[in-house]
Amino acid sequence: MTEKFIPLIDRRQQQTRPAIPEQLSAPSGVLSDALGRGLHDLRISVTDRCNFRCVYCMPRQVFDKDYQFLPQTALLNFEEITRIARIFVAHGVRKIRLTGGEPLLRKNIEKLIAMLAALRTVDGQTLDLTLTTNGSLLARKAQSLKDAGLTRLTVSLDALDENIFQRMNDAEFSAAEVLDGIAAAAEAGLGPIKVNMVVKAGLNDQEIVPMARHFKDTPHILRFIEYMDVGASNGWKMDEVLPSDEVLRRIEAAGMPLTPVAANYSGETATRWHHAGGSGEIGVISSVTHAFCRDCSRARLSTEGKLYTCLFASHGHDLRALLRDPAAYSDLELSNVIAAIWHARTDRYSELRSEHTAALQSDRKKIEMSYIGG
Ligand code: SAM
Ligand code: SF4
Ligand code: SF4
Repeated sequence: MTEKFIPLIDRRQQQTRPAIPEQLSAPSGVLSDALGRGLHDLRISVTDRCNFRCVYCMPRQVFDKDYQFLPQTALLNFEEITRIARIFVAHGVRKIRLTGGEPLLRKNIEKLIAMLAALRTVDGQTLDLTLTTNGSLLARKAQSLKDAGLTRLTVSLDALDENIFQRMNDAEFSAAEVLDGIAAAAEAGLGPIKVNMVVKAGLNDQEIVPMARHFKDTPHILRFIEYMDVGASNGWKMDEVLPSDEVLRRIEAAGMPLTPVAANYSGETATRWHHAGGSGEIGVISSVTHAFCRDCSRARLSTEGKLYTCLFASHGHDLRALLRDPAAYSDLELSNVIAAIWHARTDRYSELRSEHTAALQSDRKKIEMSYIGG
């Protein structure tokens, strides 16, 4: 059977250079968008490349040997990333997550981590500095990441069964290697580790219960993520989404009762549950069936320096064009550009999707997850 894929439209080159506002004011440490949402979380994609070809993210049929990844000169360098991050932190960002592509493929990533770890929040605190990885290089890098100043880590793992895992990553990586990476990260002091499992109905949903069992009684927090309609290349269909309510039902039916836990903070993406008897935590991220746009305080910086105000945005704001402009714009000018973009933000794609799933599917041209990061 040949699967049908939607052709990839390259959204990366669109000209979206923001204007410098005429009136400039110093950042106050608090920004609010058009729907009253703050800005607390910045996700930075450090590479668009990956050594996996997860079927729900970078299907091999699209991301093949002819696929044009960004050239090195297009990527923001570490000084540029840190400069932008510093401005975001002055606007109230407290948490930075490095992502990709596979962030551990970016050369000298530890150096960037050390530069970001030196930033301080508006009230003088260290940042919550974290990273999402597929875990393939983690066993050898965990200690150097910790030494550089990383505070926490999220590792993606979609199955324990090697056949199913390889069907998901389509690159012959083994689950055992990822488990070794998780163990090394815990050993290095990067715990509690969050383990993300994307559930694609009919592909890896039989791994829900074995994964829950495996991580029960460990300090790691397993989170089940609904398969999302990000990008244009994964051929997403609603009937491949397994609702989180069903994930929870299956875990309980397998003899692992759960009790709900309050959110750590407003805007947390996962709904949290404890295994009865206090033997570990799980979470569910229900971006499709229970949209959580109302508290979304996340901004995303793409590998080539475009600012996206939503994971499902169809265009970004080209901050790199300003960073590299001969006019040498000041931090104050860049800060006001970012403030203006955030003030105008009205994104709530997932909520709208819930209302109009079919229409949105056909209308929107969205960027790829591997380009913008999760
Ligand atoms: N390569 C790293 C990794 O896989 O952890 C970081 C980047 S990846 C794009 C970030 C997260 O997005 C991963 O946890 C991945 O499983 C998730 N993801 C990618 N495509 C997705 C989709 N279509 N639906 C839900 N989650 C997705
Ligand atoms: Fe790579 Fe992560 Fe996307 Fe998988 S989910 S293809 S590991 S970027
Ligand atoms: Fe935030 Fe957009 Fe996701 Fe809604 S759809 S939670 S606005 S990133």
